[in-house]
Amino acid sequence: MQDELYLIKEAEVGSRQIGLAKVVVTLLLLSAAIATPLAMVPLVPIPGYMSAFGIAMIIINIILGALLFAKGLIESKERTIRLGTAYFFVTVIFIPLIAAFPGGLMTAPIIGTTSSAVWLWCYWHTGFGLLIIRYALSSDDVAGTATSVRTSIIATIAVVVLLTLSATIGLPYMPAVFSNGKNFFDDSTLVIPALVFGVNLIALLCVMRMRDSKPEQLWVMVGMFAACIDIWLTLYGGSRFSLGWYFAKITSLFTSLVVLISQLYGITRLYNSIAGANKILMTQANQDGLTALSNRRCFDQVLEIEWNRARRDKRSLALLMIDVDFFKKYNDSYGHLAGDDCLRKIANHMLAVINRPGDVAARYGGEEFVVILPNTDASGARLVGERLLYNLSQTAIPHAQNLPSGLVTLSIGVSAMVPGAGSNTTMLALAADKALYEAKEHGRNQIRTAAPESIAPMPPAFLLS
Ligand code: GH3
Ligand code: MG
Ligand code: MG
Repeated sequence: MQDELYLIKEAEVGSRQIGLAKVVVTLLLLSAAIATPLAMVPLVPIPGYMSAFGIAMIIINIILGALLFAKGLIESKERTIRLGTAYFFVTVIFIPLIAAFPGGLMTAPIIGTTSSAVWLWCYWHTGFGLLIIRYALSSDDVAGTATSVRTSIIATIAVVVLLTLSATIGLPYMPAVFSNGKNFFDDSTLVIPALVFGVNLIALLCVMRMRDSKPEQLWVMVGMFAACIDIWLTLYGGSRFSLGWYFAKITSLFTSLVVLISQLYGITRLYNSIAGANKILMTQANQDGLTALSNRRCFDQVLEIEWNRARRDKRSLALLMIDVDFFKKYNDSYGHLAGDDCLRKIANHMLAVINRPGDVAARYGGEEFVVILPNTDASGARLVGERLLYNLSQTAIPHAQNLPSGLVTLSIGVSAMVPGAGSNTTMLALAADKALYEAKEHGRNQIRTAAPESIAPMPPAFLLS
């Protein structure tokens, strides 16, 4: 219970999530196997497909990156910040990527040539793969800091600017790609696609080796399966708007989407535990730990609320102040544990004698209790007190030093009033306390009711002088 309450943390990955991940990976591999022989089939170019895809990638990856940066900062984990950097990199590189892609934003590339988009595609996948390797190889112990997030963001932007420059103005110095307009890479540059695919395959293997029991690692791994299939189908499909190319775009989205969904799912689960813990804390904040009655804090609040309600409705509000007789002697004779047990029994008796929804029994402190009885006058409150004394006498808890009965008994002070101008809750409480004192004075094990005039508001100080 205590653990559940105070250790609200991300859930470990369960067998259900592992099962689901296996199903997703199987489906991914199966769809890749089906799509591969058809990958080169040319399909009609869908105008706006690339823009929609690019914008979706930017949005999904920036949300995921920000989420992981925030999580890494909150949990102080550099590794999570590194994972965030990988998705943030995708967001940033997609800006020049859709700008360079013919039909991405405009019919013709805004920056560079058609080959620029091919190079940026290579940079995207290589960079992402390398950043995932960096994440997978990093230690779980390194603390994440705001400086590290800032540095990651600035470095990512700087790297993307350099990569964009190399893919545009640096194009004459780069190997020719997509020169035939059909295949991304001809034989002479086969090393580049092999490198892109290889980096992602290594990234997948590194993530698989992580042996982390958190959902994060599991779904990054599923995402890396999708990334490898994405690269495979893009390369194998060859030209743009082939079936492989279209299919690869969906798996690209999938790479980040599975991780984003798993993160959101984790957050929802955390929110659920926090809401549950909050409820428990709220109860505990208002409850007495020993007797489970309302505590003093709650009593003060309820008394104020009921007082105001009684004043509005012009109804009587009654208060019972209850004190256990010679309880110090009880503790001395029977021990503190027996004393605690006795207090719990008394508390149960109190709960048993109050029946109306607004009635509240509280532990005032030590061996003193209070009962608030809304819409009740002094005689009604007295009746509740008598019932309590009677029920307790029937339980007959031995207390040898409390003579003459030799049982645990209570002294009760009752006060009741219709709140009027100039009166307040303190007057009501003081009157009940005074009546309790009288009950003690007159031999204990009895109820005394405060005289109505004794609760009357005190005259202003200047009239007394
Ligand atoms: P009186 O009849 O005049 O009220 O005498 P009393 O002994 O009950 O009053 P006193 O105020 O002298 O002592 C109250 C005792 O209640 C002191 C302490 O031993 C006991 N007590 C207070 N809180 C607790 C508690 O949480 N558990 C136990 N076991 N005893 C408590
Ligand atoms: Mg006392
Ligand atoms: Mg007492």
